[in-house]
Amino acid sequence: MTQTISVSCKLQVPVELCPEIDATLQAFADACNQILEVAKRENCRNVTRLHHLTYRQVRTMTGLKANHACQAIRRVVGNMKATKQVHKFRSTSISLDARVFAYRESDQHVGITLMNKRVWLPLSIGNYQLALLKGQTPTAATLVKRRNGDYYIQIAIDLPTEPTGKTPKVIGVDLGRRDIATTSTGQSWNGRQLQATRDRYSKVRANVQRKRTRSSRRLLRRLSGREQRFQKWVNHNISKKLVEQAKQIGAAIAFEDLTNIRNSLNQKPRNKTERRRTNNWAFYSLRVFTGYKAAIAGVPIVLVPPAYTSQACHHCLHIGERSSKSFKCSHCGFSGDADHNAALVISLLGGALVNQPEVPFLSCNLPDLSRDKATSPCGCG
Ligand SMILES: [Zn+2]
Repeated sequence: MTQTISVSCKLQVPVELCPEIDATLQAFADACNQILEVAKRENCRNVTRLHHLTYRQVRTMTGLKANHACQAIRRVVGNMKATKQVHKFRSTSISLDARVFAYRESDQHVGITLMNKRVWLPLSIGNYQLALLKGQTPTAATLVKRRNGDYYIQIAIDLPTEPTGKTPKVIGVDLGRRDIATTSTGQSWNGRQLQATRDRYSKVRANVQRKRTRSSRRLLRRLSGREQRFQKWVNHNISKKLVEQAKQIGAAIAFEDLTNIRNSLNQKPRNKTERRRTNNWAFYSLRVFTGYKAAIAGVPIVLVPPAYTSQACHHCLHIGERSSKSFKCSHCGFSGDADHNAALVISLLGGALVNQPEVPFLSCNLPDLSRDKATSPCGCG
């Protein structure tokens, strides 16, 4: 098994080549926008059909190479499938496949086919990228122009994953807003600074949005990038620590399966601030980051059903009382930190899933507990 990740490498581009690259980026964006128009008009999300509808026209209008045009079609279809509304493509990146991209390890160069010629450009990279690229023959990459004018190439590589075995140990992770993540092993990452940063950005954004001038639009775009980068950095750190810890003690990582939480949460009446806080991508990206890091390290990931995880007592599995930060179980008398309790419940559920996947729910075997099943999350009888 392998896990695909992308390695971001800075390119050393001679000044005289920049216009050539920019022209290719612009042509690719033009092609994407043309294809998008057709795709919307014909309501078509099929690569082959869209190819028949647009290929010839795109080649003659933009002057792109054949493979660039094919990649543009794929890019449009991919974006349309990923997000509900695709508005417009900007000339900031171009997808490359094996016919228009090559990596030469001997002198750390990449070959890129532009509109009119093929160029070899040296990579400007450190040990981290060198180690990842060692021995690889990548067949896909994305050429990106950053806002400051630097060019980067994101090279897709396949890393071998370690086999994930069965393990009785499971680290449960509760994702929350006060604490970004709390583990069943007692570790937690405070979310207050993150929330404060996010609230500050949101406030500035609201102020700037009211003005609607060109400079305010520019500021807006810069802000959104900064907020995202901060969030990404936080999530990379947390996911790295989580996987390291799990690897060390040979455990699996369990998360709540929050796939549809956004929809169900939004149906309840909540105020605007609350809505914004739960609608961001933070949780999703944290799980994605943890997922690929875990795959490489051979740490299994389990997703458990989220029902009752924050209300059940990890001790006796009965419903307890949760008041913001603390949790109290009137059944067995346990009381403690609410997030930690939830993480422990997730760890129990995860353990049940990993070790006996045929019985995907916890059931308490204790006869005296199974009597009041109305209050028991396991629903056993
Ligand atoms: Zn209890």
